[in-house]
Amino acid sequence: MLARNPKLTVIVVLVAVVATVALMPVAGAQNDGSRACSCEDIGELQAELRNAQRLQRAFQAQIAELRRMGPESARIALQQFANGPARQGLEQTDGSRTGEFDYGARGEAIDEQNWDRHGADELCALSAESMQRLEQAARASRCADIGEALRAHEERHHAFCRAIGYRPYHAMHGADRAAEEVEAYGAQIQVLRHALVRLLERSNARVTFSEQLGGGDELRTEGEVAFNHYAAYENGEMLMRGVGQATGRYRMVGGCSVTSGAEFTEPLAGNLHTDGEMAEITLYQTSMVDHPITFQCFGHGGGQTSVLGAAPPNVTLPLRDGASTTYGLSGPRGGGLQGRVTLEFCRSSG
Ligand SMILES: [Zn+2]
Repeated sequence: MLARNPKLTVIVVLVAVVATVALMPVAGAQNDGSRACSCEDIGELQAELRNAQRLQRAFQAQIAELRRMGPESARIALQQFANGPARQGLEQTDGSRTGEFDYGARGEAIDEQNWDRHGADELCALSAESMQRLEQAARASRCADIGEALRAHEERHHAFCRAIGYRPYHAMHGADRAAEEVEAYGAQIQVLRHALVRLLERSNARVTFSEQLGGGDELRTEGEVAFNHYAAYENGEMLMRGVGQATGRYRMVGGCSVTSGAEFTEPLAGNLHTDGEMAEITLYQTSMVDHPITFQCFGHGGGQTSVLGAAPPNVTLPLRDGASTTYGLSGPRGGGLQGRVTLEFCRSSG
């Protein structure tokens, strides 16, 4: 991950070195938080994402109540909430075992009368203890992106403190602090979502569909779109794009048979929107052409017709390998349309 704040990175590295040495005998686990996230970590990334979203909603829900309190009561109420109720119902993850920690500025250890002698950069910097706990939590994480998400959370606090200055930051009302916490979780959530989608991008993500249109002449279609282009937008929306192909097979009934054009291919494209938990999938044809078909009927000549290729309707699936859904429409004579859309990733190709 690129360093957004070179100065902080230097401190992180220094403290990480010191902390690694200090904590080595205690840790002894297989995690050191530096391993790149891969397919087997998707479930853990999603659990971390759900936890961060739950915490974000929890703080959001406190703002109005805190706003009605005086500064001192709001400060105490927020602290109590953060240490207790906010964390109820969180899922167990590797990182969550290290417990709650949050941004602590160096200014907290400096006497208020002396604040003016220090710059906001210095006062707002993470205290050595906070830094150590952050790195401890990052190392306990299953893989690197989870630790990066924690750092992004702390950096958001840090950046906000520097932007408004240490004194106003310190004096912030509990309701504003809760609102700032919502933003910090927002930063964390974005890193986790990006990590998930980047992982999909290099994990052979694809959507397949197969459908059958019957009740007379029959059209069977099988298609696949590989999602390997990832785009993220400023509003936090994440989109994967892909291209692929569908193959249609047309079969006639009632004494006629297709003499040419029975099998045709159709270029497809697709979009996959995701928030890291659910995937909205759209597959569409990129050339709306009729496929000509010639046929011969027993005893009374033949002719020409044409058929349009098929693409499935938009579907929403959980972002999980093998997630699938069916669609269909019943038609006359036991016919109609039956199809299935399946999301796959982290499988070898072919
Ligand atoms: Zn925070």
